[in-house]
Amino acid sequence: MSSDCIFCAIVAGAAPSAPIAETESTFAFMDIRPGSDGHLLVVPKRHSTDLRDIPAEDLSAVVLESQRIAKHAFDAWGADGVNLLNCCGADAWQTVFHFHMHVIPRYRDKDKDRLRLPFEPGVRGDQELIGSLAASIRAALGEG
Ligand code: AMP
Ligand code: ZN
Repeated sequence: MSSDCIFCAIVAGAAPSAPIAETESTFAFMDIRPGSDGHLLVVPKRHSTDLRDIPAEDLSAVVLESQRIAKHAFDAWGADGVNLLNCCGADAWQTVFHFHMHVIPRYRDKDKDRLRLPFEPGVRGDQELIGSLAASIRAALGEG
């Protein structure tokens, strides 16, 4: 537990939350500033800062629990779709530095859904740049 971490406090029951489900290693609760009706968060009970330092078993558990809950968003809330979102780093919109997965139900009814795509889909990228970025990450990964 990290002493100044709001999500550690929620997991410990020391800060209020609207809890949804708990497993041995994960805790799920409603997001206090929802982007859509039913927007919730799944966190590992054990503190990790972000995607880079979370142990593989905690990450797997969070992803599987996110899937389990997401499936129920369709029947429980009448969602038409779901987005899973993780933000890693302040420049990627991370504001709470305890790893979490957003489970965001999506609705055709825009009264329930305030999300909009933040990028322009369908705009073709620069082929040379795409190729050179693929080459540098392949090298970093040790791929032949
Ligand atoms: P992120 O920007 O990916 O770090 O997301 C942090 C999320 O945590 C935001 O959607 C906040 O609304 C949510 N949040 C922050 N504090 C609380 C809290 N005390 N209870 C529930 N959700 C919270
Ligand atoms: Zn924490």
